[in-house]
Amino acid sequence: LSQLFRPLDLLGMVYRTIRQGLIDMEAMYKLIDTQAEIADAQGAPVLHVETGEVRFDHVHFGYDPEREILHGVSFAVPAGKTLAIVGPSGAGKSTIARLLFRFYDIQGGRILIDGQDIAQVTQGSLRSAIGIVPQDMVLFNDTVGYNIGYGRAGATQEEIEEAAKAASIHDFIMGLPQGYATRVGERGLKLSGGEKQRVAIARTLLKDPPVLVLDEATSALDSRTETEIQDVLRSIARKRTTLIVAHRLSTVVDADEIIVLEQGRIVERGRHGDLVRADGLYATMWARQATERDEMAQAPEVEPKI
Ligand code: ATP
Repeated sequence: LSQLFRPLDLLGMVYRTIRQGLIDMEAMYKLIDTQAEIADAQGAPVLHVETGEVRFDHVHFGYDPEREILHGVSFAVPAGKTLAIVGPSGAGKSTIARLLFRFYDIQGGRILIDGQDIAQVTQGSLRSAIGIVPQDMVLFNDTVGYNIGYGRAGATQEEIEEAAKAASIHDFIMGLPQGYATRVGERGLKLSGGEKQRVAIARTLLKDPPVLVLDEATSALDSRTETEIQDVLRSIARKRTTLIVAHRLSTVVDADEIIVLEQGRIVERGRHGDLVRADGLYATMWARQATERDEMAQAPEVEPKI
């Protein structure tokens, strides 16, 4: 009987393989489709950034047009200032960051940089004006030097090291077996979340963009690493228009403006002190995170493992 079933098993496997292949192809075409939708307008001019003011003007967007995620979001970040976006999970915070990069086109409203609609300028010029420090950067399977140098074509070794120093990762790199020539990524040395983030910061420093998007890591880094990274981020945000997608409120206390997003709508806005006094959603989130911080502070010290 088993001899009878073996060919059927085989047939099942062949069927599953072909079906998976078709699903993969469909996914690939979907990807090509979405990319094709984001095209430069005919004869699109390049973006001219003078001061780097960012403005969202009644932005409506859904990944699927049937399900709108952002319902008329408006805010402005004056040149050189910092705006923090906070709110519950799924509120649409990272979506705002993706839209500024024009990974997707919006269904209503406008997104402007220095008064120019980002949908009307070349994507190349838009993306070269914005630096992003993502939550979890995927490193190229190449050397750590290459991964930093990617921020600016033609950067010299001195410039790469300068950026690494400013991102507090130079000493770590010098301690690697082959220094800047050490291979990292999937097929090389695996870096920790904090180290990868510092490589991303160094790359961004090299790029030196007028507009910066920081997508804060959801995964907790140890508190010393986090403080170090926050210090570096604060210094690179100082001269640039910065949008911070924040998961921990301790990082937004100094922001020039905080917007609180809930289910794709801005429900509160203001500075930290104003929002705490307003006693709304932000104040509740702040109180909850403060309790968590206290609990962590009171937790008994764990003996280090030797
Ligand atoms: P978190 O704090 O958990 O990172 P968030 O506020 O950044 O959440 P977004 O990632 O912007 O939230 O997601 C907003 C909504 O859009 C969610 O309902 C999510 O399921 C949906 N969404 C996000 N990315 C996609 C995508 N690529 N395709 C379809 N829906 C998506």
